[in-house]
Amino acid sequence: MPITTSCSRCGAEHTADIPQSVNAATSPELREKVRSGALFTWTCPHCGTVNLLKVPFLYHDPAEHLMLVLTDAPVNAEGVPEGYTGRQVRSVGDLIEKIKIFDAGLDDLIIEMCKFVTCRELKKEVPLRFVSMNGADSEMTFAYPEKGEMEMVAVGFNVYEDCAGILRRNPVIRESATGLATIDQAWMARFFR
Ligand SMILES: [Zn+2]
Repeated sequence: MPITTSCSRCGAEHTADIPQSVNAATSPELREKVRSGALFTWTCPHCGTVNLLKVPFLYHDPAEHLMLVLTDAPVNAEGVPEGYTGRQVRSVGDLIEKIKIFDAGLDDLIIEMCKFVTCRELKKEVPLRFVSMNGADSEMTFAYPEKGEMEMVAVGFNVYEDCAGILRRNPVIRESATGLATIDQAWMARFFR
């Protein structure tokens, strides 16, 4: 769908053609552009500024039974098929993080619990982002901004397993993640004061 936007730096108008939705199974090349964020950016031909497009967007991965809706507006979850995980995200960064979590075979509720625990360990209230899971021991890497730079923090998979146990013992947390839930640190903090 072509949309007209303007450069955040010089104001030059630009018409961007961005799909309203991507099906990860039928469009693997678009899936990669979503994952890299390239689908949502355009470079101004006048001043070279890389601009981020702000458009409602649906990401559908039938293999993972995953539906991610990117929008600030209230959404109706009726379109989420039975057996699917539905999530609402509010930024491209949040969308990419969710895809990375699910593509790694991880559970985003457990990841948010890991962030909660890790913040406590760090004694910092920082917006942690899942980056990757690596190696034979499945060590996870999270990132957070500090003094204008991204700090990386390694979290052992034992933390993920511990957090999975906490969620099993507190089923109300998972039960509240229905429809197109927004699962982030603010959501998780509601359960642990
Ligand atoms: Zn420009």
